Amino acid sequence: MIKIVHHRNKCIGCNACVEAAPKRWGISRRDGKAVLVNGIEKKGIYTIDLQDWELEENLKAKQNCPVKIIEIIKL
Ligand code: SF4
Repeated sequence: MIKIVHHRNKCIGCNACVEAAPKRWGISRRDGKAVLVNGIEKKGIYTIDLQDWELEENLKAKQNCPVKIIEIIKL
């Protein structure tokens, strides 16, 4: 299992995470920032626990994020 952490308030809406992992990330029509699909929000930070098969494309999302606000933790 892995945990993804998204510090959404610093997102600049560049779309790089969506391009890397389109099933897990989207862009909000409301504020133009990234949305971690099915993520759970706590104080503006979104998290989700996922199976390992989602690791590779989300690692690319993390690496491509220009403001480095995506964390991936191995559980
Ligand atoms: S790559 Fe980073 S800054 Fe760009 S939309 Fe995704 S979370 Fe936001």
